Amino acid sequence: MNVYDAERMSEALQAHGMAESGESDGETADVLILNTCHIREKAAEKLYHEVGRISARAREDGRKPVIAVTGCVAQAEGAEIIRRAKAVDLVVGPQAYHRLPELLARQSAGETGLVDLDMPISPKFDVLPARRKRGPSAFLTVQEGCDKFCAFCVVPYTRGGEASRPLDAILAEARQLVEGGVREITLLGQNVNAWADGNKGFGQMVEAIAALPGVDRIRYTTSHPRDVTEAMIRAHADIPQLMPYLHLPVQSGSDRVLAAMNRKHDRDFYFGLIDRFRAARPDLAITSDFIVGFPGETEADFADTLSLVERVGYAQAFSFKYSPRLGTPAAERTDQIDEDVKSERLHRLQTLLQEQSLAFNRQSVGSSCDILIERRGRHAGQWIGKSPWLQSVVVTDPSLSVGDLVRVELVSAGPNSLEGHLLTMKTAA
Ligand code: SAH
Ligand code: SF4
Repeated sequence: MNVYDAERMSEALQAHGMAESGESDGETADVLILNTCHIREKAAEKLYHEVGRISARAREDGRKPVIAVTGCVAQAEGAEIIRRAKAVDLVVGPQAYHRLPELLARQSAGETGLVDLDMPISPKFDVLPARRKRGPSAFLTVQEGCDKFCAFCVVPYTRGGEASRPLDAILAEARQLVEGGVREITLLGQNVNAWADGNKGFGQMVEAIAALPGVDRIRYTTSHPRDVTEAMIRAHADIPQLMPYLHLPVQSGSDRVLAAMNRKHDRDFYFGLIDRFRAARPDLAITSDFIVGFPGETEADFADTLSLVERVGYAQAFSFKYSPRLGTPAAERTDQIDEDVKSERLHRLQTLLQEQSLAFNRQSVGSSCDILIERRGRHAGQWIGKSPWLQSVVVTDPSLSVGDLVRVELVSAGPNSLEGHLLTMKTAA
């Protein structure tokens, strides 16, 4: 979501005559934007460290770039950022970044200490300029915010309440992307499957996007177990453009911990969903997020997480140590888990997940599939693309180019990527 937001900020500024510096670290840029994430701790410390580094370098070079802090740390810390880091000129929350051009103009006219944390009624998407060409695969935010208030999570506070973009606006943006050469669209939302517009739900939206000519692949992330509908499951059986991939975070396998997390679902409910998705689409790759060491988590609770992982069999997963976030109920608990215990549990969980990723990739060897070429590999003639199951596949063939959707035979597999041999050129970009 932050990648998407950064692209939209860039587009908004380009519409006002600015350009991306193209530098990895903005060495000579006039304006630097630090787009931040607040989901786990240390984000704020990292931000202050970066600002210090950037301003020291600029001073050495005799420059004074404008520094803007955006994203969820901006939302959470507000004016405190300018108080602590004097080099920062602007602080702009994730619902206000469409006003960056105006704020930068005010800043250059001499205003100081500009902070915009509004969560406006008129959504930013209505005023942002059209999408620019970026490559064969693009993100499209369809839903933002969250009303679920899991006990560990800052999202409802930093991104605001659940809000869906209207279907017409989504289809218009999808068309712009396709016109710019995009073949794969990843729909984004904090709880993407909570999307709704009138009586239309997530399944109908996917159907409408699939009906647009030129959309070869559709993906989405992140789904919440509580928002799964029959139409969403059916979409995986009925819509060929919808890729066989589901990111469905569970966080824990222990009913006791799930209840304490305020997830509003238990382990059996989750298993039931997995079974229904697999019945609709047997080759579905399933991935998840996990938190280990939530306050009060016992060894028996953690064993339940391992057994849930064994039972589901994941293609990939993200796993994190619980990180207390100021202002969330779990941070107030007195039964916090030792850092060492968290680390040790995380290691055991990741070892199991890594084995499952390798097994998932190995079972693909010998089969063939379409891959969408996204970028060049490290060696000459090498290309990297994605399989339908979001695996990275390396193919060596000088005739390929970015945006090709080609058929390959998968010939070998590691935990993080596979190697493929080109079978036929399917369609040119
Ligand atoms: N809306 C999605 C997740 C969004 S946050 C959902 O409910 O599944 C992305 C992931 O960050 C979460 O799934 C969770 O695993 C992790 N996360 C969020 N807050 C965290 C915290 N305080 N400590 C550790 N991990 C956290
Ligand atoms: Fe955070 Fe997701 Fe829970 Fe919302 S549903 S509070 S975004 S973890």
